[in-house]
Amino acid sequence: MQLDVVIFGGGAAGLWILDRLARQGHSVVLLEAGELGAGQTIASQGIIHGGLKYALQGLMNRSAASISEMPLVWRASLLGQRSPCLTNTRLRSGACYLWRTENWSSRLGMLGARLALQVQPEALSADETPDVLRHGTSTVFRLGEQVICPKSFVNDLYEQHSERILKIDAAHGLAFEIDSPGETRAIRLQSPDGSRELVLKPRHVVLAAGRGNRELRGMLGLSRETMQTRPLKMVVARGSLPELHGHCIDGAKTRVTITSDCSESADGRTVWQIGGQLAEDGVAYDDETQLTRAIAEIRDVLPGLDLTGVEWSCYRVDRAEKATTDGQRPEGIQTLCAGNVTTAWPTKLALAPVLADEVASRIGDPRETASWNGTEIADWPRPEVSRFPWELPEARWFGTDELDSTPSVTRRAA
Ligand SMILES: Cc1cc2nc3c(=O)[nH]c(=O)nc-3n(C[C@H](O)[C@H](O)[C@H](O)COP(=O)(O)OP(=O)(O)OC[C@H]3O[C@@H](n4cnc5c(N)ncnc54)[C@H](O)[C@@H]3O)c2cc1C
Repeated sequence: MQLDVVIFGGGAAGLWILDRLARQGHSVVLLEAGELGAGQTIASQGIIHGGLKYALQGLMNRSAASISEMPLVWRASLLGQRSPCLTNTRLRSGACYLWRTENWSSRLGMLGARLALQVQPEALSADETPDVLRHGTSTVFRLGEQVICPKSFVNDLYEQHSERILKIDAAHGLAFEIDSPGETRAIRLQSPDGSRELVLKPRHVVLAAGRGNRELRGMLGLSRETMQTRPLKMVVARGSLPELHGHCIDGAKTRVTITSDCSESADGRTVWQIGGQLAEDGVAYDDETQLTRAIAEIRDVLPGLDLTGVEWSCYRVDRAEKATTDGQRPEGIQTLCAGNVTTAWPTKLALAPVLADEVASRIGDPRETASWNGTEIADWPRPEVSRFPWELPEARWFGTDELDSTPSVTRRAA
């Protein structure tokens, strides 16, 4: 099958690139090895950042500044006013709250961030402040960073492009024919049930497989060392919790970032995903210790919140990015080009539109002779959309009482 482009990976990056190229008239397919969004996208908090984190750290340079436009770009897509049309993506919230730990460095961090941001935080009056944030003494701000439900986002793009999205068995049913490192002539696929074979001959290959890019680059004769992973241990709480989306700031750091999911699978409970510094530091601790730390942190940043009956769980996940010299987060989107292969990392879900523009401009116009005809792949297996990490059967839950009665623990993870 002759194609303009084959994309590997159906997370935020691959799906947005697929939409962009398909609308431009490219003959393009996307290959997914697991479930769509598995890895980072489904595990993410879904915040369409406008640069708060960069601004707090004084890093609002030119490339980081591209993120400041993202809330407006996504808003237009969510309203169906630009491509991709994301009107079936669930908006969890139109804004995030910001509140801070009461100290001087925190005040300065917040002030610096306000000077650098395009979408400015607005101070809330006492009446406008949600109950859950009323017990602290600091001012609460509202910041126009939307929060989307990542599962509905992945599903939205899948439904629009399912005819172009194929499930593959990357371990046993994938082989490349290359002329030289990165110069791909053909991709040989065997369907996951072993019943069919397909040979794709693309002009371009895009690797947008998150941490899977490492292995794919190796198969294409390209360096695996050009990417890094940075782990997080995220905390999840479920129960009769208020719906809250926001960041508690301490100096240049986000002490915790809380987002809420109230989808049907939550059975009428609110599910809080808790990230920020708590999750960055949490990889050093075993699960129970991390959850005990989380309870202490939540009691400190949200005094007065009743945690009776709340259940706690955590999950570990790696952020996959292009390697940086100091191992820290790269600035903005990242791409690497070799032969006819582009490797792409968005660095942030929010930056998927910028990455798609960059990849599309490298690939250029569709070839006039290559027109899309999906009949050859119409009955090839399709992937599922991934479940949230807390919906997986292996998620272990602990009650607040159970963790409160655990002796003060500081166990490091094995
Ligand atoms: C806990 C957490 C919270 C986050 N919160 C936010 C946030 O609030 N806002 C924000 O902007 N960013 C956030 N991020 C960052 C954001 O999630 C990522 O930058 C973004 O989702 C990366 O998307 P991706 O498509 O590159 O990779 P992924 O989402 O990891 O998708 C990779 C896809 O490739 C597939 N795949 C893997 N190997 C292969 C292979 N060999 N062949 C084919 N397919 C393959 C996987 O199954 C998967 O579907 C967060 C990240 C984490 C980990």
